[in-house]
Amino acid sequence: MSWNIEDARELYGVQRWGNGYFDINSDGDVVVQLRDGDSTVPVSLQKIIEGLADRGSAMPQLLRFRDLLDRRIEDLNESFLTAIKETSYQGSYRGVYPIKVNQQQQVIEEISEFGRKYNYGLEAGSKPELIAALAYMQDPNAYLICNGYKDDEFIDLALRAIQMGIRVIMVLEMPSELPAIIARSRALDIRPELGIRFRLSTKSEGHWAESGGDRSVFGLNSPQLIDAIDLLKSEGFLDCLTLFHYHQGSQLPNIRAIREAATEAVRVFVSLAQEGAPMEILDMGGGLAVDYDGSHSNFASSCNYSLKEYAANLIEVVQQHCDETNIPHPTLVTESGRAVVAYYSVLVFNILDVTRFSQPEEPAAPAKDAHDMLHNLWEIRNRIDRNDLQECFNDALFYRDQVRDLFRHGVIDLRARSAAEKIYWHVCTRIAAKAQLLDHIPEDLQTLQSNLIDFYYANFSVFQSLPDSWAIDQLFPIMPIHKLDTEPTHRAILADITCDCDGKVDRFINRDGTTTYLQVHDRQPGEEYNIAAFLVGAYQETLGDLHNLLGDPHVVSVGIEEGEIIYTHEVEGDSVADVLSYVEYDPKDLEKRFRNFAEKAVSKGKISAKQRKLIVDAYRNGLSGYTYYES
Ligand SMILES: *Cc1c(COP(=O)(O)O)cnc(C)c1O
Repeated sequence: MSWNIEDARELYGVQRWGNGYFDINSDGDVVVQLRDGDSTVPVSLQKIIEGLADRGSAMPQLLRFRDLLDRRIEDLNESFLTAIKETSYQGSYRGVYPIKVNQQQQVIEEISEFGRKYNYGLEAGSKPELIAALAYMQDPNAYLICNGYKDDEFIDLALRAIQMGIRVIMVLEMPSELPAIIARSRALDIRPELGIRFRLSTKSEGHWAESGGDRSVFGLNSPQLIDAIDLLKSEGFLDCLTLFHYHQGSQLPNIRAIREAATEAVRVFVSLAQEGAPMEILDMGGGLAVDYDGSHSNFASSCNYSLKEYAANLIEVVQQHCDETNIPHPTLVTESGRAVVAYYSVLVFNILDVTRFSQPEEPAAPAKDAHDMLHNLWEIRNRIDRNDLQECFNDALFYRDQVRDLFRHGVIDLRARSAAEKIYWHVCTRIAAKAQLLDHIPEDLQTLQSNLIDFYYANFSVFQSLPDSWAIDQLFPIMPIHKLDTEPTHRAILADITCDCDGKVDRFINRDGTTTYLQVHDRQPGEEYNIAAFLVGAYQETLGDLHNLLGDPHVVSVGIEEGEIIYTHEVEGDSVADVLSYVEYDPKDLEKRFRNFAEKAVSKGKISAKQRKLIVDAYRNGLSGYTYYES
């Protein structure tokens, strides 16, 4: 049976998690589907990388696809608009993008420009985010929703923006914010528009479930809510309360939990309207999930609903409860972040080196005069087809340990030990291959299979570029971006270049859940081999840290115009001097110190003045260079 592209699609599940944006072409390259005028064109990621290499830009690279961001904004808004039409819902939908999910200027600009036709707004959770958002709020019909802790400076800025005609809504996260807002509002003589964030009692599932529910640190509980209403009434501010907000947590995998929370929320919304507040907006927070593993299930890395179902379910729940109580249908807001930006970015990195454990090729036979133990090991090969596999494995282990003992006692030399270990790995590889055909694989042999997984050393930092993979074991789709017309015959985990034992990726998605290895192609020394992590546009870029002082990778936006790949918004990654200055070194001072050391070496006669120049130049080049491995 020969390998073909269909097998590659199936193995890596690209059509299950790719949402129609990613696929594999007949050359065996991963492609991204980008719009070019009225048509959609498959663009090879490998070709994009080659174009960057021609321009002298090294790996790793973070590729951004503005077109995918536009399509997500479109899909989110159109899904709600369609559901509204189909159910004759009387209110509208007006989403806001939560800046914290990806704060990059380009993202905010695209949201405000491309999102304009949907009155798509922004959510700010801190003072810096508010300040960034205010510069992009062109649309008087879009909302700027302010969550997070608000000091007087924050409140004043929000109030003055209202005066300018921006629809800023301050959401109370804590009881103490209300007296402060009332005081500033009186002082500036500007009426605020207010929302209240509530802690639902409905429990959710998933990694981030704690950010909703009774014990959530954010939002008012029901006694605090009633106190706030009473204060608004007694201070004459109840007419400012228009919005009710809750946030169940991020990446909610189960639509049932989403419906339950919405049901509780709409009950509270209706109660606030019945208290006399001019309730107009129901802000249902974030949580819309991304199907990272493509399983369409309620696993933490997936979701058991589509965007269309999400919109339809929320609208149905709100409509039903408002109709029962004769409350007008509110404008619906979601603060969907992850689902909007996850597809936008792809991280591509190259493989620098490989450590092999599997040994499919038969090694050299031991020399005639080699120690008996080597011959014993070698003989196991001939028994694998006849004998019990477990027995073969026990023997291999025994002889290998004997060989190690002989080495410790000085009976055999390092070359003999090395030859024996090669034979041992070869025997194990053959045993594991045979074991795979068994109905029941004994436990020892299962362990053996996992011990045969190779290390592929990848030119990136998990801590910088895939922090959630390390911190919370989140799964991302990861696969080679080329050579997919040939069969990937090896199994590997990816080790990054941070030399931290946590700096690795050893969980990958597959058909039946997860595996501890990635199926990869054989890679000969020096050969180019590129792998990508997909769906990294949400949260990964700014959560990353400078572990081992590896900095931001190069970033570039990629589009297509009249069939040609267009590179824009190139941002050079951190240089060594950049990351050193983040931790308070002064690059100029470093260079000066190094020069002085080199001068001392000259005066002691260790190096010549000419050699000093070479060394100092190398140091200076190192400072201005990329933090990643450059070849
Ligand atoms: C983080 C956050 C969001 C975004 O959640 P996603 O799951 O990315 O959609 C929305 N609202 C609030 C209040 C948040 O804290």
